[in-house]
Amino acid sequence: MTHTPYPQSYYAFSANPVPLRPELQGEVETDVCIIGAGYTGLSTGLFLLEHGFKVTILEAAKVGFGASGRNGGQIVNSYSRDIDAIERSTSAKNAQLMADMAFEGGRIIRDRIQKYNIQCDLKDGGVFAAFTKKQMGHLEAQKKLWERFGHKQLEILDAKRIREVAATDNYIGGMLDMSGGHIHPLNLALGEAAAIESLGGVIHEQSPATRIERGANPVVHTPKGRVKAKFVVVAGNAYLGNLVPELASKSMPCGTQVITTEPLPEDLARSLLPQDYCVEDCNYLLDYYRLSGDRRLIYGGGVVYGARDPANIEAIIRPKMLATFPQLKNVKIDFAWTGNFLLTLSRLPQVGRIGDNIYYSQGCSGHGVTYTHIAGKVIAETLRGQAERFDAFASLPHYPFPGGRLFRVPFTAMGAWYYTMRDKLGV
Ligand SMILES: Cc1cc2nc3c(=O)[nH]c(=O)nc-3n(C[C@H](O)[C@H](O)[C@H](O)COP(=O)(O)OP(=O)(O)OC[C@H]3O[C@@H](n4cnc5c(N)ncnc54)[C@H](O)[C@@H]3O)c2cc1C
Repeated sequence: MTHTPYPQSYYAFSANPVPLRPELQGEVETDVCIIGAGYTGLSTGLFLLEHGFKVTILEAAKVGFGASGRNGGQIVNSYSRDIDAIERSTSAKNAQLMADMAFEGGRIIRDRIQKYNIQCDLKDGGVFAAFTKKQMGHLEAQKKLWERFGHKQLEILDAKRIREVAATDNYIGGMLDMSGGHIHPLNLALGEAAAIESLGGVIHEQSPATRIERGANPVVHTPKGRVKAKFVVVAGNAYLGNLVPELASKSMPCGTQVITTEPLPEDLARSLLPQDYCVEDCNYLLDYYRLSGDRRLIYGGGVVYGARDPANIEAIIRPKMLATFPQLKNVKIDFAWTGNFLLTLSRLPQVGRIGDNIYYSQGCSGHGVTYTHIAGKVIAETLRGQAERFDAFASLPHYPFPGGRLFRVPFTAMGAWYYTMRDKLGV
């Protein structure tokens, strides 16, 4: 069988040491079989183990191989759409439950880091940066909206304050969330995997689930083994393929690309981002950046609908980085990689159950570092008999992409082009 390694990212280069996690061979029995060792699977597994469940995780490649080990590392609270969009999609009670949870993911991550002593370069502070008055107005409205739900820690930054946060003249203001922040994403995933194993959980790498035999006692098959379980949790997100056909039509894998500079001299690094906050801008197709623990600039942006891997990532992302920080024109790029997230039409997570023993959560549409940690908690609550918070997410309606599987890529790209033009024109 082929061995799938990590992509050549800065995160794989700077990963903490990991144990060998053998491929599944033969038959095992467990309470919960989780498919996928990204944050969704790991968070679910850890919460379940903390409550006495027996857990087996099947990972097609390696822990954190997917988006969880490749992302921008930004702890962005809330969801890819605002709570007012959620209020329009579901009952007031469910919207209230989701609003209450919106800042819980950042707390779960910090709790995991502290409880299991995970070394992943945690820094507090995330900034949303506005180019236009319209974007600034949106941030102000967002702050008011969150305050209505009791989340009062957000701070509006004027033009002077945002210039103190990011050394670029591009922005007219922004919003700071000190409960946001950033981490080394792969090391967070690896730390969570180690925590799972410390509690007796088992993770098999290089063990893709190839088939789920549904029924009262589901069985998950891999090329050389099978897992008999009471429950199955599907957490393969953009890398799942067609394992669960009913999920595929309402979501679309998309690629986004990241570059990492060589380590910067301390004074240059500090001049770019003096408080060491992470930044994402307010454009529809947004740029996101931050400093790594060893003072590299990690800069991401762009979306490839349908998740084809672009040929020259540096050629796509470096101009974006220089548009923000022209002072980096002589700096070398050490790493460039792509990763896939899963987009839904509403940009809200796709959550639910198939029968009464297969659960899924996927499709957080670009902002999943915090949501996936909440997902793990609510799935674990559900298996313990408290489904209220899971059912709030499951109540969100989802629709197939226009154009079906054949034309969803061009249709969605056209929509994104429209929003990008609006961002450029500031309308
Ligand atoms: C480049 C990039 C930058 C991003 N930046 C940010 C950011 O800064 N902040 C933020 O909030 N969000 C960000 N995101 C989104 C965020 O990373 C994801 O929403 C989140 O990590 C999804 O976690 P997950 O566990 O659901 O999926 P993944 O992390 O993709 O994990 C799924 C796992 O399942 C495995 N798998 C799939 N199918 C099978 C199978 N059949 N059998 C066994 N295993 C299987 C895969 O190998 C993979 O390891 C970014 C995404 C990308 C790609």
